[in-house]
Amino acid sequence: MKRSRPKAAPLAAANPGKPANLREPHLARNIQQLITLATHCAKAGSRYEDVYWEREILALASKLMAAGKDLPIETALDITLKGALDADLDAHETLLSFCEAAAECSTIDMDGARFDTLLVAMPMVAWSRYAIASGPLGENDDVASQIAHELMIALHTYVLAHGTRACLSPFLYSIDQMPISFSGVHKLAKKLSLEALGAKRTRLDSAKLPAAADLLADVRFLILGVSVPEGAPLFRWQEDQALTREACAAAWTKHAKPILASLLPGCEFECLLPDAFFVSCREADRRVRPYAIRAAVSFLENTLNVKPEKVHAVIAAVGEKAVTEFRISFITPGQSDVVHGSIWPVFSAEEDESEIIRVLRECKISRITTPEGVFAAEHCDDCGAPLFANEDSEMVHPAWPDDAEHTAAHYH
Ligand SMILES: [Zn+2]
Repeated sequence: MKRSRPKAAPLAAANPGKPANLREPHLARNIQQLITLATHCAKAGSRYEDVYWEREILALASKLMAAGKDLPIETALDITLKGALDADLDAHETLLSFCEAAAECSTIDMDGARFDTLLVAMPMVAWSRYAIASGPLGENDDVASQIAHELMIALHTYVLAHGTRACLSPFLYSIDQMPISFSGVHKLAKKLSLEALGAKRTRLDSAKLPAAADLLADVRFLILGVSVPEGAPLFRWQEDQALTREACAAAWTKHAKPILASLLPGCEFECLLPDAFFVSCREADRRVRPYAIRAAVSFLENTLNVKPEKVHAVIAAVGEKAVTEFRISFITPGQSDVVHGSIWPVFSAEEDESEIIRVLRECKISRITTPEGVFAAEHCDDCGAPLFANEDSEMVHPAWPDDAEHTAAHYH
């Protein structure tokens, strides 16, 4: 069974680790200070005051990340999200955006000059009947450097401003292979930005990275560090203000797609405009959603020989207080079980199931039910797979019919 996409780890503000021991004085002080600064910043009455608090938060967050201390940051985010300690949600949003900034960008001194740096991600939304590739670029170093060289030319021509220096990580990442913590993003950003400025390249230890999840539609990323002289434009659309992002995206797709195609054999894919790390992760996760449904429907049709017109789709809203995702169950005639499930993450409170219904109808599924209420985000105790609502609105484990062939073939 293909497993459904987990929530994008680098974007989650929740504290994934053990609960913080707030009696530990350094930890408690750092948490309290982050919350105090974010609360002041969210209430600032002027741009002048804003800038002051921003500087303070960025300095503290960067210092913690450089020391690999994620616990105070994650705990402060968790506390502000839950509205404890009278902090409000604005403080949470403020803190989250500055922690992302501290992780993905910085200013560094090198040989007496100052440079601004940004970690940039180049997302691809891919779908395939075969396993979607990930891992080191090319089968050997020569192929990898040829691909990197061609991509760099396209990037410098269509995306990056003149005078930028960039260094590409020679690895095609799935979301699970990207750094999961703020300090992990900070470390990768620093390594690649320094290498862009001529520091000696160090090898990425890809043996430690987990295998990519086996999904029908998924996102892949190339990651690069970009450095510019302090204050200079970094993207083409900053440098030439008559250029739109849309025009840059169109030019990028046209020229980069043939190069990227060699990295994604057997896949169809869409390339998105390279942009800052966190915003790119969110955008790719948003854009992959309809493809996951389309890929699931054609997988059912090709593997079980079930016409979409006969498929019953159940859309369950899932979350705690607010809806954080929709889980879409696919049920085929003669089966009481859910045969396949697909997760549709929600990125704003305004999103409802109407877009999902539109995509399902476009795929010729007309039997769609939306049970009332918000379901708890339940997972299987044994394998961790998300559970999906059946026709009786009970959360169940998706189960592929015993006699059906279902494992994804690897494309060679
Ligand atoms: Zn299980």
